[in-house]
Amino acid sequence: MRRADVSAKEWADWRWQMRHMLTTAEELARVVRLSDDERHGLAASKALFRTGLTPYYADLMDADDASCPVRMQAIPRAAELEIRGEELRDPLGEDSHRPAPCVVHKYPDRALFLVVDRCAIYCRHCNRRRLVGGDDPPNASEIEAGLAYLRRTPRIRDVLISGGDPLLLSTAKLDDLLGRLRAIPHLETIRIGTRIPVVCPMRVDDELVAALRKHHPVFVNTHFNHAKELTPEARAACERMVDAGIPVGNQTVLLRGINSSVRSLRALFRGLLRWRVKPYYLFQGDTVIGTDHLRTPVDAAIELYAGLRGWMNSMAVPHLVIDAPGGGGKLPIGPTYIVERRPDAVVVRTYRGKLVEYPEARAQDCTVAYDRVFFAGVPEDDDREGSAEVLDLP
Ligand code: SF4
Repeated sequence: MRRADVSAKEWADWRWQMRHMLTTAEELARVVRLSDDERHGLAASKALFRTGLTPYYADLMDADDASCPVRMQAIPRAAELEIRGEELRDPLGEDSHRPAPCVVHKYPDRALFLVVDRCAIYCRHCNRRRLVGGDDPPNASEIEAGLAYLRRTPRIRDVLISGGDPLLLSTAKLDDLLGRLRAIPHLETIRIGTRIPVVCPMRVDDELVAALRKHHPVFVNTHFNHAKELTPEARAACERMVDAGIPVGNQTVLLRGINSSVRSLRALFRGLLRWRVKPYYLFQGDTVIGTDHLRTPVDAAIELYAGLRGWMNSMAVPHLVIDAPGGGGKLPIGPTYIVERRPDAVVVRTYRGKLVEYPEARAQDCTVAYDRVFFAGVPEDDDREGSAEVLDLP
């Protein structure tokens, strides 16, 4: 179904978009000329991970060219079935860091709260494909148990609400959940991870934004992967949130053949910055089952990154990271800029490849004497591994 086929009122209604998600080859074939590879992928991937996307996102697709970055994110290919030995259902070790239902606690001071299992698109690169799809949503008692864990774990200062897509909860439910999180005194910041601004921007209406801003400081992390997704509707959604004092960051997954060119990444990050959306992370693809064909070699990623840093406003340059398999966390990677170390200087390579000497400081002691005064009586951070908490429970 294309935009021209429905009324403007229906098109702008996020619930209509969700009710009319495209989920089958027949529905997609009405929008694009499906390639044999896509037809095969759609038929064969059913058992692996469902297909689904809003009419809005489908409308961004190139009807004739299967290499379209929107199509490649939403329509499975035959290669999705070529599962390699090293690919995992749970590449980030989330299931082994679950001290309570719905909570993933890997880092000391922050936790993930998985409150919903539905999305407005089922991305072919999704690293949580084992959990999302709308078949087994968390129930009320699981959410309560998750809230109880967050309440009794004071070293958690930040919670990232995710899923699935939390902005698919009704505004009233989300407001209630945010209120209950905000009532936990040690939770300093609340983040929401969502692809809604990319795939169903009409969901970000005045009512939603008013509900979010009541619970500040609230941050939103969204997930644009290609400049083709930077539409006027998406811009309005992001700017509505930013205007309400909600900082919006963006996480991009580096996807081979979709955004794996310097030109494509620069256009995406510059466009986001113009909207006041801060490019935050550029992820190497996780080793999740059925996604090897979408991952980029690490050396290629580093070379692409060298085409960003220094060449464009660094506000537009995200951190390039590998999320360590097994739950080790996000690790920055990138070009090596120090090429030689000497006691008196280091030799660095500039973004243009020129070698420059940076003289070392003579003094070595970096102690901050005033810490003793400023932090007098303040306990040290509790830096235990996140899920260790579960072991302490009676
Ligand atoms: S929106 Fe996020 S959670 Fe949902 S399928 Fe895409 S990447 Fe996965």
